[in-house]
Amino acid sequence: MADHLRKYEALFNLTPQRMRMIVEAFKESLELGLSKHGQIVPMIPTYVFGWPTSQELGNFLAVDLGGTNLRVCLVTFEGKGKFEITQAKNRLSEEQKQDEGQRLFDFCGKCLKAFVDANHESGPISVLPLGFTVGLALSLVTMTSFSTSLSSSRTHTKGFGAPNTEGHDVVEMFRKSLSKHQIPAEIVALTCDTTGTLIPSDSHYVNPKTRIACIFGTGCNATYMEKVKDIPKIADLGIDPEMEIAINCEWGAFDSFEHENLPRTKYDQTIDESSKKPGEQAFEKLISGRYLGEILRLIICELIDEDVLFLGQNTYKIEIAYSFDTAFLSLMESDSTDELLMIIGIFNHLFALETTLAERQFFRALAKLVGRRAARLSACGIAAIVSRMGYLEEGCAVGADGSLYNKYPMFPERIHEGLFYIFGEKGKNIVTYRAEDGSGIGSAIVAAMTKFRK
Ligand code: ADP
Repeated sequence: MADHLRKYEALFNLTPQRMRMIVEAFKESLELGLSKHGQIVPMIPTYVFGWPTSQELGNFLAVDLGGTNLRVCLVTFEGKGKFEITQAKNRLSEEQKQDEGQRLFDFCGKCLKAFVDANHESGPISVLPLGFTVGLALSLVTMTSFSTSLSSSRTHTKGFGAPNTEGHDVVEMFRKSLSKHQIPAEIVALTCDTTGTLIPSDSHYVNPKTRIACIFGTGCNATYMEKVKDIPKIADLGIDPEMEIAINCEWGAFDSFEHENLPRTKYDQTIDESSKKPGEQAFEKLISGRYLGEILRLIICELIDEDVLFLGQNTYKIEIAYSFDTAFLSLMESDSTDELLMIIGIFNHLFALETTLAERQFFRALAKLVGRRAARLSACGIAAIVSRMGYLEEGCAVGADGSLYNKYPMFPERIHEGLFYIFGEKGKNIVTYRAEDGSGIGSAIVAAMTKFRK
């Protein structure tokens, strides 16, 4: 297996020099996105202005519709950055994600209704303000107040295949289901998951050095604060140029269509060509939880076709597209037994395949290559924002969430290693940290900021 491994090492390795080239191209894409509408990396102004004061008070609901899970939270702010959170998580089935838009939102309404009934005693002021977070890219056409324009919240790309979700007003759809289920809540703010993660990170809520928030889950994305005067495409809106506004980068789109900058292997190309949206979300397809297991599976299938692996065994289970979850890569990398018992278990129980020790070592090494490339590319994205904003000298913290970041062994360490390769010693000034469930709290804070500024 050693010869094969060398071949894959060459394909998946990213040298510091290559990483620096990617960072430069990434930075240009971010700048282009800020200067004009409709660019590859859309750089969407969220119209969430500045940071919370940490004086927010009261009960707020947050609903976070992610790529895999639906989370509902009740957050009680007690002032001075103190808060209590109660939350529930519901896994979305493939059918639900592909379902007709209104039905998906009805499911959100049903979960929220059960949650509110169980966790909130309605008092005299019974209508709860609600912050809604959607893991879909949001194109916000107009701005009506200091909050996101709720009347023009149309999704425009990626994520769910849900028909009738794209191009529709998601807030209106959700409102309908709130009313159908008689939920005492009013949607007052709409954010994306990275903005939700960024907002509580600064100020007194979490980590005052935070400047960037990232998600590494089913998909990947980043948000950071930009001064209005540095966003040419909204220069004519008459907003105070000194104000800071959260920019939802939607950076998963970097290098889409052109494919000039990222090191795409033939496995990445296969994933892209057989995806619902070929050409799109090029960066995300090399990085996020949805795809890493599939990359490894395609390599294994290639070696099956070449008669290198599983000769004489029935391989139909592993030949099913997307049957190899990214969580298996995590399990494989964390297997510390001599015999690699976890890897025996995965192949045996889930795919009915017998493996030799040499094969298991090979699979673990492959998982490391795929996982490390994803982390290094993630470092390139972070480095592009750091470099654009000049955060390197002073240093900054990056709040991160998502199962890939939280559960994949060494993912954060490999991002830090990547930053070191890109920036040298100064790369150590950029530190990522776990901002788990930040997006729910953030969404509630944005709802509170909206409420208090009205
Ligand atoms: P969401 O994207 O809905 O917010 P998560 O952050 O949990 O949800 O991300 C789900 C993605 O993370 C899925 O693509 C899944 O394959 C992947 N994943 C789940 N568990 C693990 C794990 N232990 N290690 C790595 N990836 C994981």
